[in-house]
Amino acid sequence: MQALKKRILEEGRVSGDGILKVDSFLNHQIDPALMEEIGAEFGRRFAGERITRILTVETSGIAPALFAARQFRVPVVFAKKAGARNQDAHCYQAGVHSFTRDKDYIIQVSHRYLGPDDSVLLLDDFLANGQALIGLADIVAQAGARLVGAGIVIEKGFQDGGRLVRNMGIRVESLAVIRRMTQDRIEFDP
Ligand code: 5GP
Repeated sequence: MQALKKRILEEGRVSGDGILKVDSFLNHQIDPALMEEIGAEFGRRFAGERITRILTVETSGIAPALFAARQFRVPVVFAKKAGARNQDAHCYQAGVHSFTRDKDYIIQVSHRYLGPDDSVLLLDDFLANGQALIGLADIVAQAGARLVGAGIVIEKGFQDGGRLVRNMGIRVESLAVIRRMTQDRIEFDP
């Protein structure tokens, strides 16, 4: 998606620890016009699929998930990050290791908002090592729901997540795939 790649090149900042900061349009300030284009692109890529819910994880997945959900006219469910202490018996739960924070946490989704009749599209802002997507896919499996695939705004193709998740048989559609990045230069897959 050219408009997204252009914004990444113009505004993205690579930090020394392999994190791409896109706080000006996605992760802190959010650009609704770009989110609208992102939502429309996911709408095109997953056109024809039966989707009843979009599932993401708080916080940064919510904005793109919401705009994609408008295309499919379905609700967004976001998994909540819970501390070990406030786990809920009426929730599906999965453990996730956070790449950016380098810590483990539990994500949970209420039984009320996901069930065996659902066809679920996963959505997230970044794909790095794949742990967030694998946790979300685990929750879909616990619910007995059907997994349609995953929509990713920015995939870091030089990390293992994309390969790992695709090898699980999950269809992944990424709008921008970064092949290589340094503090001076960001390169995309064609
Ligand atoms: P994974 O679980 O695939 O290792 O990492 C995905 C999650 O980590 C995303 O939900 C995203 O919030 C965060 N993340 C991973 N890499 C980056 C990055 O380079 N920049 C930002 N802003 N977030 C990232």
